[in-house]
Amino acid sequence: MSAEVTLHDNIHHDLRADCQHCFGLCCVALPYAKSADFAFDKDGGTPCRNLQSNYQCSIHKDLREKGFRGCSAYECFGAGQKVSQITYEGKDWRNNPETANEMFDVFPIMQQLHEMLWYLYEALSIDIAKPIHPELRTSFEKIERLTRLSKERLLTLQVDEHRAEVNEWLLKTSELVRAQARNPKLPKKISRGSVLIGAKLKGLDLRGANLRGALLIAADLRNADLRMTDFIGADVRDAGLSGADLTGSIFLTQAQVNAANGDSNTKLPPSLQTPAHWK
Ligand code: SF4
Repeated sequence: MSAEVTLHDNIHHDLRADCQHCFGLCCVALPYAKSADFAFDKDGGTPCRNLQSNYQCSIHKDLREKGFRGCSAYECFGAGQKVSQITYEGKDWRNNPETANEMFDVFPIMQQLHEMLWYLYEALSIDIAKPIHPELRTSFEKIERLTRLSKERLLTLQVDEHRAEVNEWLLKTSELVRAQARNPKLPKKISRGSVLIGAKLKGLDLRGANLRGALLIAADLRNADLRMTDFIGADVRDAGLSGADLTGSIFLTQAQVNAANGDSNTKLPPSLQTPAHWK
């Protein structure tokens, strides 16, 4: 598959959830527990009681208000429509119950592949990462081909091995980006995987920080300078981002932003939208 075919103009759309063309897979396949994020318990493989017969959510516009903010902070990266329309060729699980459990097992595998594609696509859009664009492109094409495997082969995929390979190039991208703006006086506690739950980081210069996998739950990042920061896998639930500058930050997803709190003064990368609850 050529790069021209793979990285077509619609790829950005293909890596975003398109619930109209999905059989509500995240609302069925995944389990959740009653908590601040979900109003009740649900087992994996059981349809959420808010899922309608047309596979649309009955409370989609009021998820946070109705106690389902966990749903607004979930991102399938387009895996739902890929499994529904490509892997299972438009055959839904309600009318084909014999394939239901298998489809629910394929979905999280596809979600991981699409997440990798999302990050690789982002890395390919970063000018400073141009020296490694050939490798990023090769990696993207490889993962994209995997998403088109049969359901049987998808189920046997060693996803962790592919993730490790992709991660190598994402790390290199991160180093190239963060080297552009790193604050030399960055506090030592601000690093990859840091536990910064509830940390008071208001107004700090955190440019070029490596926040990979950091736990920033309810951290106060108001008015912080977060330009060129790597947010991959960071948990920013309830983090305060009002007035923060995240221009040029990388590997930050819409789901992460949806889980945080900000305001109209928060500067986000252009690919991300200001969540409704920030306005
Ligand atoms: S509340 Fe809506 S979005 Fe969340 S799992 Fe249920 S049907 Fe899906």
